Amino acid sequence: MALLEVEDLVVQFYTDDGVVRPVDDISYEIHDGETVGLVGESGAGKSVASLALLRLLEDAGEIVSGEIRFRGRNLLELPADELRALRGNEIAMVFQDAGAALNPVYTVGEQIAETIRAHEAVTDGDARDRAIGLLEQVGIPDPGVRYSDYPHELSGGMQQRAVIAMALSCDPSLLVCDEPTTGLDVTIQAGLIELLADLTRESETAVQLVTHDLGVVAELCDRVLVQYAGQIVERAPVEELFYDPGHPYTVGLLASTPRLGDDRERLTTVPGMAPDLVDPPTGCRFHPRCPYAENVCARRDPPLVETEGGSTDDSDPETHVAACLEYTGDLSDGLDYEVVVHDADGDGNEKGDRGGDETERDGDGRRERGRRGESQ
Ligand code: SF4
Repeated sequence: MALLEVEDLVVQFYTDDGVVRPVDDISYEIHDGETVGLVGESGAGKSVASLALLRLLEDAGEIVSGEIRFRGRNLLELPADELRALRGNEIAMVFQDAGAALNPVYTVGEQIAETIRAHEAVTDGDARDRAIGLLEQVGIPDPGVRYSDYPHELSGGMQQRAVIAMALSCDPSLLVCDEPTTGLDVTIQAGLIELLADLTRESETAVQLVTHDLGVVAELCDRVLVQYAGQIVERAPVEELFYDPGHPYTVGLLASTPRLGDDRERLTTVPGMAPDLVDPPTGCRFHPRCPYAENVCARRDPPLVETEGGSTDDSDPETHVAACLEYTGDLSDGLDYEVVVHDADGDGNEKGDRGGDETERDGDGRRERGRRGESQ
């Protein structure tokens, strides 16, 4: 049994403009110790999907159907007190804005100790010692001294480390990280990515990582889910997603990622805007922005199917699936892009077709890719 199973989840928001479904019939699972990335542009519904896990949606939002099972128990049917016990103990969250997640009138150490006391019967002294140990574990120098610092006395990166320490305080089985490095400068981001990588390597904690940053995904994730306009449009093991993306939206995201040694004057972008979810496009929701769209794309809603073979059985989470009519055989011209794997000098002279047969890694394992004509 998977640690977390999300099945046919639908979340609605009731706005002045109408009903919006930022999460529209998504299913996925996460196993013990696994790190799964949920990626997509802002507004794709990634954060809403994560907040829904712990029923933390704002008043205007409602889970209207589906199931969220954690160790087999449906969280949507748990009584409030059991759900409260599960939050922090079994599933913990790291939010994007660490400054907002910390209470400004308590010291960071006391906030961590309070979290420990709320979930376990420990003495104040033990809670304090554990909090100091956690501050040390997440790389905060002089943890005994910083215990008494207020949030405003810490830098943004240190605040985020303190929030991660708080999330780890009860040794959760699942850590949900919502854009944990966004808004921090790149050197701080790199430190936090290293920290998260160490933590996930050393413990059996599973991670659901919400991000729009594919570099973070490449560093940390075992598998990736790509979300677009409330729906999952591609799911793949991380290497396969980077070497052999199957959905044109994923290809656009990869092509728009800046790279070391990039000599393009302008970054490629996914054309157009994310759709208004009050009135999403018919058929494939990506069709107004897709360079390969055909008439059928506006009429037919593509199911998630295996990219090799077109099977609709996606029960194995390792199977690479994408929601594009290419894989149901409904496109006349097909998809026409190729993956470019740059060598160690960034020359971009190793190429593979979409099937990935010719794709090779460079000497140090780094690779970059993009759509034909846009990645050089
Ligand atoms: S179904 Fe059509 S519009 Fe959608 S991603 Fe595939 S080619 Fe593009």
